Amino acid sequence: MSKQILIMGHKSPDTDSICAALAYAELKKISGISAKAIRLGKINKETRFILDYFKVTEPEFMNEIMGSQSVNENPDVILVDHNERTQTIDGIDNANIIEVVDHHRVVFSTANPLYYRAEPVGSTSTIIAKLYKEKNVVPTREMAGLMLSAILSDTVIFKSPTCTEEDKIIAKELEKIAGVSIDVYGKDMIIAGASIEGENLIDVVKTDIKLFEFGRKKVLVSQVTTAGVTKLLENKKEIQEVLGKIIKEENADSIVLMLTDIVLSGSELLFVGKYSIDIAKGFDTPTGQDSVFLPDVLSRKKQIIPKLTEILSEV
Ligand code: MG
Ligand code: MG
Ligand code: MG
Repeated sequence: MSKQILIMGHKSPDTDSICAALAYAELKKISGISAKAIRLGKINKETRFILDYFKVTEPEFMNEIMGSQSVNENPDVILVDHNERTQTIDGIDNANIIEVVDHHRVVFSTANPLYYRAEPVGSTSTIIAKLYKEKNVVPTREMAGLMLSAILSDTVIFKSPTCTEEDKIIAKELEKIAGVSIDVYGKDMIIAGASIEGENLIDVVKTDIKLFEFGRKKVLVSQVTTAGVTKLLENKKEIQEVLGKIIKEENADSIVLMLTDIVLSGSELLFVGKYSIDIAKGFDTPTGQDSVFLPDVLSRKKQIIPKLTEILSEV
């Protein structure tokens, strides 16, 4: 009997990490390959809304791959929506990575050859939808709904600079199969995810957080999507304290928090930690200010990480 492949997105999973894993596991099964989706963390509010809407069960939780007796017994895994060691499952060295399907910068090396599919599109789910087409498989309504949701989530309904023409074309095709309206459903979904009323601030910041290594510098970048950044900033001091705590907990040097406002269509950036002065300066924060609002900045991957790479290479 062949082993069951584990398909997983990144830690602190977002909608794309959950939906791409579920949709890809389904495609593998249809192709006669045993596979199941895994999640490396709690389902966020937006993803919960989507899974409930399309009545799909969440993936099984796993936080570590344990070492086995022999290399042959190591599980086969597929990474979707990430490829960085700091963002993947603990004990990844106890697994055989047989595939990566992703849309992020490539920070990856393996001892063995593998299938690596990277495309600079708006979401991993766009690539998964293309894989369905390449295999001549029409996704079910549920899987089409999940992939559509992930495209809308990652591209903030086509507004993010990461969004490509291809994302829009694929989304329109999935919209028909899923039987929803992108405009109506998309807004409902984003709003369901953006409400942080009554939530613990640490949990809010940790919902969509990623650790990046720039040489030896370890920087966390968290993104909180909201519809009311001004109100949130009334508690700036408290937020900064929370950021300091998270740096310690995660053993990082610095943290950048993006408070992305979907109504204002931009992000307020907050900086705490070792390189915060240089980072703040790099993002053109006016002197004497400890945060800055950047209009049209919606993407961590395309607008924050490249800039951080540049800033931190000179520090
Ligand atoms: Mg993601
Ligand atoms: Mg993604
Ligand atoms: Mg995201």
